[in-house]
Amino acid sequence: MAGPALSEPLSELELKQLIACHECDLLLRKPDAAAGERVECPRCGYELYTHRAQVVRRSMALVLAALLLYVPANFLPIMQLNLLGQATEDTVWTGVLGLYNSGMQSVAVVVFLCSMAVPLLKLLCQFAVLLSIRLDIGRSYGLLLYRIYHHMREWGMLEVYLMGILVAIVKLVDLADLSIGLGLLCFVALLLVQVWLEVTMSPHQIWEALSGEDAHAGD
Ligand SMILES: [Zn+2]
Repeated sequence: MAGPALSEPLSELELKQLIACHECDLLLRKPDAAAGERVECPRCGYELYTHRAQVVRRSMALVLAALLLYVPANFLPIMQLNLLGQATEDTVWTGVLGLYNSGMQSVAVVVFLCSMAVPLLKLLCQFAVLLSIRLDIGRSYGLLLYRIYHHMREWGMLEVYLMGILVAIVKLVDLADLSIGLGLLCFVALLLVQVWLEVTMSPHQIWEALSGEDAHAGD
């Protein structure tokens, strides 16, 4: 029985020109986007990618800002608490230690991973990836690190931690004499810089730059 003739398989070059929508899986030919242009899926309107100018340079500045904020955000007091004449200063790090010493070792480990270790590793991965594009060295390691970064994304939960802090402040403010520390401001700033970085560092352009397709990404 003769079925319909199969079409020729696509060549590697033709495959590279195709792009799939992350939301509705529509397969389309990749349009050329000039700097600053947004490409949207014609079926569902999802943003396929945005071609931003100077992605690497701008992302690099944001990563460095985030790394600089990381230390004060974790080690400067988030709040000062005055309860019955006893004053304490709480940082993210002393919070982890406090949990550990009060018998909640497993909770302490999870809090340490999600609020300190993973956010730092994420930033270091992003920094190394950008550096490998900028200096044009070790792109294969860059690809590996960027893949690891995408796996770690779900595990950095700074925003959840911030919600916890805000709830604690609201609950404690009636009970004790409480003042906000510099650490909290740095923590909020770190969170904002990270969100900005996620928006700026468009994965599409980074993958292209890492695989050497886009010679202008480092501009
Ligand atoms: Zn779509």
